[in-house]
Amino acid sequence: MKLQEYRSKEILARHGVALLEGIVATTPAEARAAAERIGSPVVVKAQVLVGGRGKAGGVKLAATPAEAEARAAEIIGLVIKGVTVRTLLVVPAAEIAKEYYLGLILDRASKAVTVIASADGGVEIEETAKTNPGAVLRLPLHPLIGLQEHNVRRVAFFLGLAPEQRKAFGPIMRGLYDAFIASDADLAEINPLVTTPGGELLALDAKIVLDDSALPRHPDLEAMRDLAEEEPSEIAAREAGINFIKLDGNIGCMVNGAGLAMTTMDLVKLAGGEPANFLDIGGGAKADRVAAAFAIILDDPRVQAILVNIFGGITRGDEVARGIVEARATLQRTVPMVVRIVGTNAVEAADILRQANLITADSLDEAAAKAVAAALAVGGGA
Ligand code: GDP
Ligand code: MN
Repeated sequence: MKLQEYRSKEILARHGVALLEGIVATTPAEARAAAERIGSPVVVKAQVLVGGRGKAGGVKLAATPAEAEARAAEIIGLVIKGVTVRTLLVVPAAEIAKEYYLGLILDRASKAVTVIASADGGVEIEETAKTNPGAVLRLPLHPLIGLQEHNVRRVAFFLGLAPEQRKAFGPIMRGLYDAFIASDADLAEINPLVTTPGGELLALDAKIVLDDSALPRHPDLEAMRDLAEEEPSEIAAREAGINFIKLDGNIGCMVNGAGLAMTTMDLVKLAGGEPANFLDIGGGAKADRVAAAFAIILDDPRVQAILVNIFGGITRGDEVARGIVEARATLQRTVPMVVRIVGTNAVEAADILRQANLITADSLDEAAAKAVAAALAVGGGA
């Protein structure tokens, strides 16, 4: 789950990272009032969960409250990478001497929380890593003892900070690390971290991405979720207790179990098709959950066929088959459905499916091939 800049800054500030506190605004009038309260030149910033807001015109300087109001009117409603701006952050404008990048990621390859740092800040770090890899430091931290003083010094020297700035850098690096660990983050970054002409160090932009699996431990962070920016289908799935990730293909998949869902997607690809989603309805799937899953899958206009792949263990195949038939009757839109049910009560399940005129398959290869063929017949290609 991604957090907006103002939320991320709230968390970093709690852990002692130096930054300029701002005021959130949702109308030009509020932005003007915020600029009046701040009482200095401000920066008006679009709050959307995509990068490159600056380049897209979503970050603008304003010298006066009247200008802040005008800039806010321009930014609200702006569409940045497909997301409409609704919320702004108004912050005191900082003078910038130099911009740096400082981030922490959970790096699965090195199995460690890893510092990423670069003296070429303000731009996308992925770009710098490609064009000038020597300009990016990757420093894995010890998984048990965490961030140590020598790590902090190493990063400060890599960035080429002056001695007095190295002192100010310590609390920023440690605050970023503490915030990362305390919130079970996958990523926490400051881009840019800047030095001011006066020699101060400040975090001007912040982004935190939380580990979804750790959210139950953080109800306060879960409450920061920005529903306006999430896929409606992913929200519906979460509410129905279904694990769902939208993809770009045309074959909807409904599967019980995450491993089986991934295998199903692989076999769809092997058969020449493209999965429209990853979907795990979980154990003991009853008719209402099956119905919710179908509705979520069919909400995607690209879906031209559905492949249902169920392994009956504790889940009884005949119950799922009945659920599928019941659910199908309630759907707004129908597409060809290929159903494979194996395991507990598979024979009874097959009878129910046949009576309802559903396409069945015994093996997964056969099911995937039939689903791909059905989608081709409907839409003529992936
Ligand atoms: P992003 O484009 O979404 O990453 O948004 P940022 O908050 O990082 O802003 C983009 C760029 O705008 C920064 O790299 C800075 O160059 C500039 N910027 C942001 N805040 C300020 C500020 O307070 N003062 C000045 N002078 N420039 C700023
Ligand atoms: Mn930035």
